[in-house]
Amino acid sequence: MEIKISKCAAKCCACDNDFEHEQKVHSHVVMQDDALARHDYCAACFAYAQAEGAFCAWNVRYTDPRVLEAERQEALSPLRRLFYDLAAVTDRAELAQAYLAAQLLRRQKVFRQIKESEENDGAERVTLFLDRAGNRLIETRDLSFTYTELDEARVLLMERLQALEAPETDTDAEADNGETESAPQQSEQVEEHVQNATS
Ligand SMILES: [Zn+2]
Repeated sequence: MEIKISKCAAKCCACDNDFEHEQKVHSHVVMQDDALARHDYCAACFAYAQAEGAFCAWNVRYTDPRVLEAERQEALSPLRRLFYDLAAVTDRAELAQAYLAAQLLRRQKVFRQIKESEENDGAERVTLFLDRAGNRLIETRDLSFTYTELDEARVLLMERLQALEAPETDTDAEADNGETESAPQQSEQVEEHVQNATS
């Protein structure tokens, strides 16, 4: 008899709830109409399902393909990596860089703008973006940055991006992890797009 077992389902076969990334999933293979059928359960439903006679049973960790894709994208895009580093800070100069990086990612269709609102009597403009790769929501703040601030941010952002794209090979360089795929050169695009974003 040929045994073929399908991949882990994206949701529990009993309660229909989506599995989360790295959630423990209980899998059963049962005989159904003379064929093997795989059933994937969340922990709560598995407690009730155990009574059924199973051909075999095991546990897996569910991996959400969207999360994996987001991790891959993040690793590939220096600009996205920079954005997430910058978005976590509160320093005004760095927030200006995060704001610019988000505008660039929007132009690259990596981010999709969801909504824009004003806070502090219009002194801050908050933009909500959807990061398409991870279905992750993030926001940026335009703290009424001046042209000079944005221009300085542009220069710093460029420098950081170039440093990421062409890391200096010194003695502290990290060991090659076998990743041979190189990220596309983005600094030239940034130069051009920032001109638009700040005008
Ligand atoms: Zn369930």
